[in-house]
Amino acid sequence: MTRRPFICGNWKMFKTSAEAAALARELRAQVGGVAAQVAIAPPFTALPAAHNALVGSSVELFAQNCHWEASGAYTGEVSAPMLRELGCAGVILGHSERRQLFGETDATVQKKLKAALGAGLTAIVCVGETLAEREAQRETAVVSTQVRGALAGGLTSADTARIAFAYEPVWAIGTGKVATPAQAQAMHATIRGLLRERVGGAADGIRILYGGSVKPDNAATLLSQPDIDGALVGGASLQAADFSRIVAAARERV
Ligand code: PEP
Repeated sequence: MTRRPFICGNWKMFKTSAEAAALARELRAQVGGVAAQVAIAPPFTALPAAHNALVGSSVELFAQNCHWEASGAYTGEVSAPMLRELGCAGVILGHSERRQLFGETDATVQKKLKAALGAGLTAIVCVGETLAEREAQRETAVVSTQVRGALAGGLTSADTARIAFAYEPVWAIGTGKVATPAQAQAMHATIRGLLRERVGGAADGIRILYGGSVKPDNAATLLSQPDIDGALVGGASLQAADFSRIVAAARERV
């Protein structure tokens, strides 16, 4: 089954509204009209400015997190319907920084995934092992638990069109240490196997992105692997030229 490549930029806590609008405008000029699905995930505060800058472009707007309830007494939180209202097409869930620094668990990721899909958003569910877990040869067990945990609430075949996974080894995020294409491919194949257990053949349509120090000069090799369907890009998504070159690498894969 052909899977449309998907490149998403995770801007983390970078870019004011003015800076986000400027970068979004640069990106729309450089990556418009490509066959790959392209998204950017600015901070919450910059979503309206980025949305305005992207009107009429194929570049989609994603958020970096959401709450599992639609509304309520949850000070400081933002819900999935609120993101839809701002023009978001999707949301990143369970990023390792949220798991490590903000107490995100497989259980909260599962609830957020349900809320995101219910609100009509696409979700990118992040999974990945730490260096200590890989050194203890526990990476497959850790990632399998995360994938199963995220899907514990069930997944219909209709949902499969709006869910993607991102395998992001924690030791490769922001470190310049990229997983080898073989290491990444092996984990992506494991994740696809787990998805098949859940949704059978529909698993072949679910995109699994790689994340962790993806740069213009390593993107093509990673994307040449059979189960690597795109990239979740942190640092290199903050420069239009670098991000555009990664998108170009995905275009060549089509
Ligand atoms: C990320 O934060 O999702 C990420 C992959 O970051 P970087 O590309 O900077 O390693």
